[in-house]
Parts: sequence; structure tokens; C-alpha cells
Amino acid sequence: MAGEATILDGKILIVDDQPANVQLLEMMLQRAGYLHVSSTTDPAEVCALHLANRYDLILLDLHMPGIDGFEVMEALKRAGQDDYLSVLVITAQPSHKLRALQAGAKDFINKPFDRAEVLTRIHNLLEVRLLHEESKAHAKLLEEAVQTRTAELRRSEEMFRELAANIPEALWIRDVEHQTIQYVNPAWRTLSGLSAAIGDPVESVYHIIHPDDLQWVAHERRRTPGAHASNEYRLVRPDNSVRWVHARTFPIANPSGEIPWVVEIIEDVTQRREAQRQLVHLAGHDALTDLPNRTLLYEALHEAIMRAEEHSLFVSVLLIDIDDFKNVNDSLGHAAGDALLREFASRLVKCLRPGDVVGRLGGDEFAVVVLTPGNCHGGVDVANRIRAALQVPHLVEGQVVPVTISIGIANYPDDASELKTLIRCADAAMYEAKAAGRNTFRCYTVEMNARALEKSEVEGALRLAQGRGEFVLYYQPKMDIDSGEWTSVEALIRWRRPGHGLVSPALFIPALEEMGLIVPVGAWAIDTACRQISEWERTGLGNVRIAVNVSSRQVREDRFASQVASMIREHGVNPRLLEFEITESTLMTHGDATNVALRELKDLGISISIDDFGTGYSNLSYLKRFLVDALKIDIAFIRDITTNPDDASIAIAMINMAHSLRLKVTAEGVETRDQLEFLRAHGCDEAQGYLLSRPLPAAEISEKFHQAAAHRGLLRAEPARWSVAHA
Ligand code: C2E
Ligand code: MG
Ligand code: MG
Repeated sequence: MAGEATILDGKILIVDDQPANVQLLEMMLQRAGYLHVSSTTDPAEVCALHLANRYDLILLDLHMPGIDGFEVMEALKRAGQDDYLSVLVITAQPSHKLRALQAGAKDFINKPFDRAEVLTRIHNLLEVRLLHEESKAHAKLLEEAVQTRTAELRRSEEMFRELAANIPEALWIRDVEHQTIQYVNPAWRTLSGLSAAIGDPVESVYHIIHPDDLQWVAHERRRTPGAHASNEYRLVRPDNSVRWVHARTFPIANPSGEIPWVVEIIEDVTQRREAQRQLVHLAGHDALTDLPNRTLLYEALHEAIMRAEEHSLFVSVLLIDIDDFKNVNDSLGHAAGDALLREFASRLVKCLRPGDVVGRLGGDEFAVVVLTPGNCHGGVDVANRIRAALQVPHLVEGQVVPVTISIGIANYPDDASELKTLIRCADAAMYEAKAAGRNTFRCYTVEMNARALEKSEVEGALRLAQGRGEFVLYYQPKMDIDSGEWTSVEALIRWRRPGHGLVSPALFIPALEEMGLIVPVGAWAIDTACRQISEWERTGLGNVRIAVNVSSRQVREDRFASQVASMIREHGVNPRLLEFEITESTLMTHGDATNVALRELKDLGISISIDDFGTGYSNLSYLKRFLVDALKIDIAFIRDITTNPDDASIAIAMINMAHSLRLKVTAEGVETRDQLEFLRAHGCDEAQGYLLSRPLPAAEISEKFHQAAAHRGLLRAEPARWSVAHA
């Protein structure tokens, strides 16, 4: 509603050719309080005045000479400044009223003037006029606001599209009511390989969800329609490649709280999933063979035990160890060792049935877990299958490598009901298989436990043995076959184990090697041999050469040669009285490092012989390269040398080969005269064995030397003589 003051503030123009009328009206209006009243008696200037002053009300006399009121209204309309012409016509002729209204007048005043009527009509018209102006202003404001908002909306939509088009994630907006796509960005096509358009049914994008994930994703969507959700599933692209995606869903609610749209943002997480999968795989698998590692295998065993417990099944655990794998590694090198392990692993896998699990526990140790329904023979069946698969020798880097294995089997629930004990039982069984000569399998029995216990007792006792002075060296002579002279003695270690008597090295050297104790104990043997050489010299027995057995671990020790040199110095012995016996595999181990160490020993004046020759991977070029002085043919070839033509011809070939390389040949384990005669006949240089003497303590061996001197010709017609080293 326009206020009174605003109405009185309205601009009014009085148009009448009669100045008296004009005056009268002006006076009437001014008295009534109107502030802006102007007038004209010339109708021709009305238009111009209105354009200049924008009157809120024009009081127009219809009947004027020249230009009448109708024409003025026409002219005002034409000027078109205002769609709303606020004209009040003044007329004395009622017949003109209707025409005037049709011509655009808003009301009329009768002549002669009735003051109340005139003021009321003017007041009302001004009020209407002002209301009209006000509403126009409002409409304008409204229009401006709408325009601003529209521009803002357009801008924000542009921003949304810009954003949605440039994010790497695919994005759709789903119309909940119609289940159609309200919006889809270009990344969807890149991600899915599918194009989708606005208005397409949502099924057109959902149908590429991987069949294995489809059900739960659909279920999830139904369960939480329009809720915030976050899921990972797979998509199958039209080219059949599979992508892992992470989809985040959230609703867009309208002001009344309904949810007309749901947004889905889909990120390709295939690479992350793959990296995660690889990490998980690496954590549970052995890098060399890609088999489950110890951790994963134990998990599988744990699960198998649980299932067996639940469904009354049997579980067998097989611990598998490759026999003498160290030899392969040492003689053919680590790359070949690795290749063998990989090939072996793949054979193992082929021997298994679905559900069986094989893993690598470390080194050359593998394990198999078998779950069987009927009985506990599943493990034995698998062991037999694996052994059969090894009938075909492995081919490693062009070399044929026969592989045998030792297997220990333990069964749940018969042997143990719990994982750790089951493994311990299988381990004890494997130890038994090894002790039984390898290349076999053993099933756990209760007695084995006692033996396994004993093994750990032996290890405990060995740790203390050196400190307690329980080791002692025995000596066994070697004889020059031609002359019958005793050329040297071999130092052989014994363990005086309290309560067990004299223990053979065959029973504890492997344990010392395994425990790493062979290094200090071996050093003790060299030191003791040096002391013995100097003692025999001091007590008048003369220069007796001693051969000491040296294990590969010792040779590989840093500064081995310099330690030996200081022992030699300390005891003041002639290094040419010292000989080291090393096995073939030691020679092949760590090629260059061994070569350097042996070179240093040779430079000191120590001679080197190859022990147990024929049992390893003989490589003649190595013998030449390492400047070896002698070969000792292993007892295995000597034992039946007179009865087994194969052994005989191998021994003969070895003797000839050694001689062609200018190496001395010693035969080990000579027990009979026939053997000695055979060796003599084929030119073998030296013999060692019970025929001459068993290994004896130092005191007894010196006694023997004296007896030998007294019984010259014991072994042949010529007298045996003291050996004097050709220093
Ligand atoms: P090896 O060096 O080949 O020693 C020869 C083995 O054959 C010795 O067994 C010896 O007693 C045995 N022997 C000798 N003559 C005969 C025979 O006529 N018939 C039979 N059946 N056997 C015979 P031993 O003393 O039990 O030593 C076994 C192995 O222990 C040795 O084999 C050697 O490899 C290792 N060993 C001994 N002492 C040491 C040592 O101080 N250090 C290292 N690293 N190894 C040692
Ligand atoms: Mg030896
Ligand atoms: Mg030997």
C-alpha cells in the first residue's frame, strides 16, 4: 500500500485550454496537499512535458480546440514511454466517457467539478499508479535476481561438468525413480570400455560387473539404497580384460528430504590390488620356487588339522630333504643349485593332488601336507609318487644330476595332535631316513623321539667338548706300496665323550659342520698335529709327516692360511711335514676363494690331497688348476676291488688318470693282502688301512713305528723304513 506522503508526492499535470479550470484544479490540489502540481493550456506540449517530467497523473480535458484529449492520449501512447498511462479525463459529456476509457484513460472527472469527487479520483488513481510503479520495481528486482541466479546456476553447472569431465574417476548420477543414468562422465568410457548416455537404464552399466561379484554388489545396492557406501569389485570390459574398481556411492537429497539421485564415483584400483596381491604373495611364498614358504605352509597345516579334527580326517606331513644337496651347490655352483631346486619343486607340485599343499621350508628342505579321509597312508602314497618322479634324473645346465631324497612322515592324529609336535615327529622321521643311508622314507615311530632327543643331547655335549678337552687325535699310517715304508700318518679325530667311550668322527663331524663348530675344532686338530710333529721330532722319532682332514668351512674362513702359518711358526715345524686332506666338493666350493686359500697353503709348503676321491663330482680340470699333490681313492672302490670287475676298472682308471696328471695315488681302507697286491700290480703309490694299522693314539703309533722297524719285511720282503720327508 502506498503511503499518504508518497501519494501527495506524486507529480500531476493539468491539461485544459481554460485557464480558469486550470487554476481551479491547481488550487484544489495544492490545498489538498499535493506538492508537485503543474499545468498547461497547450495540449500540443503534453507529450514533450510528460517525456521530460514523467508525471504520475495527467488530468486531461477532452474537449480542447485544435488537439482534443483523444489525440493527446494517442500521442502519449505512441510516445510509448509508459505501458501504464495514468490519465484522468475531464469531460462534461457522459457519451465521451466510454470512448475515453477505450482510448486508455483510467478514469474521468465530470465537469463542473465536484471537489470531493475530483480529489477522491485523483487520490485513488495516484495510489494505483504508485502501486503499479512499486510492483514494476519489484518485478524488475525479481527479474534481476532470477538472472543472477540463473547465471550462477549456469556457472556452477559448467564447473560441475568441467570437474566431472576431468577427474580420472568415472562418475555417474543415477535417477533413483526411473533407474536411468542422469549423468555420466567421459572417464567411464575409458574405465569400462563402454559408452553410456544420459537416459540409459542403469542396468546398461551394471551388467559388466564380474559374474562372481554381481550378486553381492546388487544385494548391497538393494540393502542400502541411497546410502553412503564403499565397495570394491571387478568389471569385465568388452575385450574381456578385468579391472578392479573401488566404487563410492552417496545420495543427493532434495530440500524435502527425498533422494532423487545417487552419485557413484568409480576408481580403477587394479594396479593397487595387483601390488597388494603381490605383496601378500611375496610374504607367503618362497622367491626361488614360488612355493608357499614356511609361514604359509604352517598355516595350511594348521587349517588341515582343524578340518581333520572337525570331519574326522587324517593329515600327513612329509618333510623332504634332498640328499647331499650341498655337494651339488659346492661342485656345480649356486646357479646350478638354484636351477635344481626349481626343477625339483616343479616335480613335487606335479606329484600332488588337488588340496595337497607343498612348500619350501628353506635350503633344500620341502614339506607336503596331505589331508586324507580314510586312513593315514596318504603320506606314504605321496612319498612313493615323489620318489617315482625322481627316477628320471634332473638335467641342470646341461649336466645330468641324479637326485635322491630323504623323507620323514608324521600323521595326525596318530603321532601328534598339534602342529609343532607333528613337525617335530616328521623331522625325527626324516633324521632316521638320513641315518638309514638316505634315499628312503621313514614314518614316525615313538622310538624315534628318543633318538631325536639324543641328537639334541649330542649337540649340547659337543658345544662343551672342546673346552673340556674331550677331543683327541688318533693316527693311522700310510705306506709306500713299493718300498713298504710308512710315509706319513693321517690324523683322525675322536671324541672321548663321558659315559659313551670313544665316539667315531662319522657320528659327530656332520653335527660339528652343521653347528659351525667345525672351524674351531678343525683349527684345534691342525694345531695338535703341528705339536705332535714337533714332539716326535724332539723325542727322536724323526720327521713324521701328518695328514690333517680339513673341511670346506675351514678353507672358506678368512685368514685360514695365515692362521695355519702362525701355528706352524709357533710349533717350529717344517711345513712340508704337513698335508691337508680335503674332499672334492671342498675343492669346487666357491671356486676363486678356495683357489686363493689353497694357493696360500701351497705357498707355505703344505701339500694338498683329495680325500674320498670318486664320491663327488670329479672334475679333472680342477685337479690340474689347484695344483693338488695326491688323490685318495675312496674306500668304496677298494672294498671289492678284487671281486668286483667294475670297481677294479674304476680304480685302475683313477690310478692312470692321477699319474697322467702327475699326482700321487693313495688307496684308502686296504684291509687284505689281496687288495694290496692288486694295487701294487696296478701301480698305486700308497696304501692306508687296517691291514697296516688301525688309527691309534699318538703313544701307540710311535710304538708301532718302533715295531715296524723291528719287524722289517712284515708286508713285503724288503724292510720297512722310517719315512723321512723330502723337505
Ligand atoms: P677319512 O678322512 O676318509 O678317513 C678315513 C676313515 O676310514 C677313518 O674313519 C678311518 O678310521 C677309516 N679307515 C681306515 N682304514 C680303514 C679300513 O681298512 N677299513 C675301514 N672300514 N675303515 C678304515 P674315521 O676315523 O671314523 O673318520 C671318518 C671321517 O671323519 C674321515 O674320513 C674324515 O673325513 C673325518 N675326520 C676325521 N678326523 C677329522 C678332522 O680332524 N677334521 C675333519 N674335518 N674331519 C675329520
Ligand atoms: Mg682323510
Ligand atoms: Mg677318506
